Amino acid sequence: MYDQYGRHLHYLRVSLTDACNLRCVYCMPEDMHFQPRWKLMSDEEILTLVEIAASLGVDKVRLTGGEPTLRQNLTSIVQQIKAIPNIHDLSLTTNGILLGEMAADLKAAGLDRVNISLDTLDAKRFHQITRWGHLVDVMRGIEAAQAAELTPLKINVVVTAGFNDHEVAEMAGLTLERAWDVRFIELMPVGDVADFAIESVITSAETRRRIEKQYGPLQEVPGYNGHDPARPYRISGAKGRLGFISSVSQPFCSGCTRLRLTADGKLRLCLLRDDEVDLLTPLREGADREALRQIMAEAAWRKPWGHGLADHELPQARVMSQIGG
Ligand code: SAM
Ligand code: SF4
Repeated sequence: MYDQYGRHLHYLRVSLTDACNLRCVYCMPEDMHFQPRWKLMSDEEILTLVEIAASLGVDKVRLTGGEPTLRQNLTSIVQQIKAIPNIHDLSLTTNGILLGEMAADLKAAGLDRVNISLDTLDAKRFHQITRWGHLVDVMRGIEAAQAAELTPLKINVVVTAGFNDHEVAEMAGLTLERAWDVRFIELMPVGDVADFAIESVITSAETRRRIEKQYGPLQEVPGYNGHDPARPYRISGAKGRLGFISSVSQPFCSGCTRLRLTADGKLRLCLLRDDEVDLLTPLREGADREALRQIMAEAAWRKPWGHGLADHELPQARVMSQIGG
């Protein structure tokens, strides 16, 4: 699949649920309401839409949410997506809370890798950021993912002023002895929590400056493909790598290869724009695969060039947990 700007779209992020067992301050309000089950794609509907995407050239799928480990039948969904011939890379983004119990089964089902969100190493602060979470559960999840070889393990750190910005060097230091990719993400203004995100953003340049103040200049790791939003760096002598995802200060739209499928079956064309095309309604109304292929390919062609944050055009229709990040 190509868009009108010649970008090759071969990476699909599928949200399995909008629900979550945490309430991260930058992601959703504490009294968040979730969609009723009937509005979400069934297992079969997910599989059909991913198969259609694969027939159009998608070869990389990431499962996300909300919190994807809350989805019933997750291992079976993993197994079935992995069995689609074109899909070569299947990964999952999770808050890690339930991963301790699930990592081995997910690996056995065919999951290749996980990204785990971890913003702080301080238990009290973790509870403050996630409102409901306990750090010990995530640490258990990380250990289980490592033991199950869901690797290379990526740790996503959203940097938020006043919450964890003073801790970024310590988080980067995790890579000294561990072969992890620790990626620092700029806070993005999405939905109801946009004002908070605008007030609390710390740019990647500032995060990097703080890390370099402690560890000296970062080294560029060779072999960057230009499509991953995070160019890899290394602290001198470290086993793992660092990355900076600068969606706000330095958008990487020209290298974007992604499409997103929301849990309610809409093809979302850009993370930070509200343009979506409904696939679930035609599927439920009986559209055949060829018709759905056409809707998907035409929608992908219309993928917007980039987001409009610099012009204060903010995505407002959904919060991040409904899009999947
Ligand atoms: N629940 C899973 C998790 O937290 O990893 C998956 C879904 S979550 C929406 C995906 C990613 O988006 C997480 O790494 C999370 O930290 C990040 N995220 C959520 N809200 C964000 C925001 N406003 N700006 C930047 N990243 C955000
Ligand atoms: Fe849940 Fe992930 Fe959003 Fe946190 S970032 S509230 S874990 S969906």
